[in-house]
Amino acid sequence: MTSASQHQPRVALVTGAGRGIGRGIATALGARNWRVLVNYRSDADSAASCVQQIEDSGGEARSIQADVASADGRATLLRESLAAWGGVDLLVNNAGMAPRQRVDILEMSEASYDEVMGVNLRGPFFLTQAIARHMLAAERGGTIINISSMSAVVASTSRGEYCISKAGMGMMTKLFADRLADQGILVYELRPGIVETDMTAVVLERYQRLVAEGLTPIRRLGLPEDVARACLAIVEGHFPFSTGEVINVDGGQHLQRL
Ligand code: NAP
Repeated sequence: MTSASQHQPRVALVTGAGRGIGRGIATALGARNWRVLVNYRSDADSAASCVQQIEDSGGEARSIQADVASADGRATLLRESLAAWGGVDLLVNNAGMAPRQRVDILEMSEASYDEVMGVNLRGPFFLTQAIARHMLAAERGGTIINISSMSAVVASTSRGEYCISKAGMGMMTKLFADRLADQGILVYELRPGIVETDMTAVVLERYQRLVAEGLTPIRRLGLPEDVARACLAIVEGHFPFSTGEVINVDGGQHLQRL
């Protein structure tokens, strides 16, 4: 459990929270008395509707437009986050992107590599650095949750830049977990499998068929709520003696099977 006062609602910053998994996390937190900062990059309507959904459930939320891949965007995000309610107790690094085109690694462009790494790894790394400095100065502990992917360990040669970015997030989780544990800041990595969102919409039919044929021991696609429930288990204090931990939320897809 974060060490912030239990009497004041705690503040969560969820990146990429207007749609998909981030929205599932943001709305679940909002329904449990967290104040939620809903970051988005370009889809202002979705972010506004996420804020509305949280407010309709009795919670408090604000949206913040910022591109996590840019240093200016992260500075804006930090400034506006701290201005909203005076601090951040939970950072969820959720914003992410798939390559714009799935291309074999022998053909992958440097531009695609740089873009995906910027959004999925460099951005979250330096945002975490900035928020961690704030958490340390505030001396009230905190929690950081990184949404990586089963692609951290499963090779897909048509989206290598994505896999590399998520594998890097795995080491990022370990590094910050080690560095921050003494100050009461715990760091976790959630590895979703195939989750029904806009990101997977283009390959949904193929994935549905594979899952029906037994790709995953639990024969269904994941939902944003599945990832949100894992987040809640962490922030509600059920892993107080764990940090740097990986929790797979993938229907068992990571299991090696014969
Ligand atoms: P999604 O539906 O495509 O939504 C992506 C979200 O990230 C959007 O809210 C988007 O903002 C935001 N975003 C993208 N680039 C951003 C940037 N540079 N700065 C700020 N926000 C940015 O994706 P999703 O499926 O929910 O995925 C969420 C996370 O889970 C990602 O990190 C993804 O890699 C990971 N994941 C997804 C799956 C899956 O099967 N869906 C599986 C494993 C891991 P806008 O709305 O403004 O565009």
